[in-house]
Amino acid sequence: MMIVVSAVIGTVVVVAARPRTAPPPAAPVVVTPSKTPLPAKYVVLTFDDGPDPAYTPKVLEVLKKYDATATFFEVGKNVAKHPELTKAIHAAGHSIQNHTWAHQDLRHQTASAFRQQVQSTDEAIRAAGGVVPTCLRPPYGGVSATVRQRAKALGKELVLWTIDSRDWSKPGSPAIVQRVLTGVRNGSVILLHDGGGNRSQTVAALPQILATLKAQGYGFRTLTC
Ligand SMILES: [Zn+2]
Repeated sequence: MMIVVSAVIGTVVVVAARPRTAPPPAAPVVVTPSKTPLPAKYVVLTFDDGPDPAYTPKVLEVLKKYDATATFFEVGKNVAKHPELTKAIHAAGHSIQNHTWAHQDLRHQTASAFRQQVQSTDEAIRAAGGVVPTCLRPPYGGVSATVRQRAKALGKELVLWTIDSRDWSKPGSPAIVQRVLTGVRNGSVILLHDGGGNRSQTVAALPQILATLKAQGYGFRTLTC
């Protein structure tokens, strides 16, 4: 009896697999956090020093209008003051990463102060947005062998930039636009600011930057480390 049952099962399997005109099996379920495939030609937009109630919502508005995603390197004490902004950034699909608690130059911190600057920011971002950062952008681009080693010990990868808009110096929005678009190439990491001072020039520059990059075929990627 056992042999007969096996034969029947075998036949059923062969019949089901035989027809060559049958449609291909359904595609496997692909689990991806991204709604769309990663663009092959891309830039990484980064906004530092926020969140800021005056400018972050405006930056978010422009990004949404141009269907662009960005990475926000946030200052922990600002997150603690405005957790709703961090939450909104996360909800809009952007990446939120660590820019220290009080914008300290990490080259001049004791080991315990370094840890406090990074971990308290992690905790504020996690509490506000539910995500723990994996990237760390050292304020002022301040990197040393010790900074690298301490960051690594905390599970953080240091991320700088390839294009500095110098928007913090308030050179006027045309100059910000020009600095970003001059020399942009595939994979550029663009430094802008949504906090830390008056960022109205950055907000004003953003539509032209995004419109031009899109017209040149660039997409936008966000950072995870
Ligand atoms: Zn900064």
